[in-house]
Amino acid sequence: MPADKASMHAAFLELAGDRPIALWPDLPEPEKIGCIVAFRAPTGAFARLTNLRLIHGTGAGVNHMLADPTLPRHLPFARVVADEVTQGMAQHCLHAILRELREHRMYDGFQREKHWQRMPQIDAATWPVGIMGLGALGVGLAEHLARLGFAVRGWSRSARQLPGVETFAGPDQKHAFLAGCRAVVVLLPLTAETTGVLDAAALAALPRGAVVVAAGRGGQVDEAALLAALDAGQIGHAHLDVMVTEPLPQDSPIWTHPGITVTPHIAAAPNGKALARLVLENFDRLENGRELLFPVDLARGY
Ligand code: NDP
Repeated sequence: MPADKASMHAAFLELAGDRPIALWPDLPEPEKIGCIVAFRAPTGAFARLTNLRLIHGTGAGVNHMLADPTLPRHLPFARVVADEVTQGMAQHCLHAILRELREHRMYDGFQREKHWQRMPQIDAATWPVGIMGLGALGVGLAEHLARLGFAVRGWSRSARQLPGVETFAGPDQKHAFLAGCRAVVVLLPLTAETTGVLDAAALAALPRGAVVVAAGRGGQVDEAALLAALDAGQIGHAHLDVMVTEPLPQDSPIWTHPGITVTPHIAAAPNGKALARLVLENFDRLENGRELLFPVDLARGY
């Protein structure tokens, strides 16, 4: 999720000095703006930004910005990679995974019934967790999972080698990757290729009763296929932080499905000060002819 607006504004006021950096939607003197900072496409605004030299996202994902047909694609574009985002995402996903491994949903039920019963502890090494997306966030999560004794699997677009992680790459290896995952965590950017990446066939490739944790972007998990797989017992439980439509509509069956835990896109966000520091660093780098930190590859879409 993007940085909180109020903290972002305060941090830019404090740190930006006289740099011509504007936070969408505040565009005073648009012809003087050298850098625009935004999460969603400032549709229609770019035409007025005649001196624009840098576009900066306020989050790790840039799909909303790339969706704007008026985006000046020749300009440099950077996104956010920050420790607090990597840590926040690891906390969010670990919380979901550990609840499942340690069967706390079952113990919640025992408590409601005032029923004292101990079950044998499941060995994390026999409970493989697969991560779809081995970028800044996926690798951060993989390290924590490995430290906690999990067997970790990972899937990315290009082949990757990571210590302690069994890696797979590309569409051809997707189902082989999924077949070995007791739980799968989706940490992918939203692109044409990752839309519907967990469709009915992919959900069927998981072992029966597998857990899904979706924290990349809505649209990567086929929601209708997920509901059907939950009802059929193919998926044991799903933790969804991102949805196709956000906010989740009141009449969505996702709200009330007993097999789904919903969080409102809160997995991780940069704090305003860290975001402001990154944007200023990147603006200064650009003005001094140096390479940007965390550039977006527009052709790849992330
Ligand atoms: P990165 O760009 O660092 O990593 C993306 C990873 O996804 C890479 O490993 C990449 O493969 C892989 N990937 C991309 N396309 C495909 C594909 N078609 N098939 C297989 N793998 C693919 O991103 P981050 O880790 O920083 O962030 C991931 C996403 O998490 C963001 O784009 C954002 O949408 C989401 N996010 C959600 C938040 C929330 O609050 N819910 C907060 C922050 C981020 P390769 O290594 O080959 O390039």
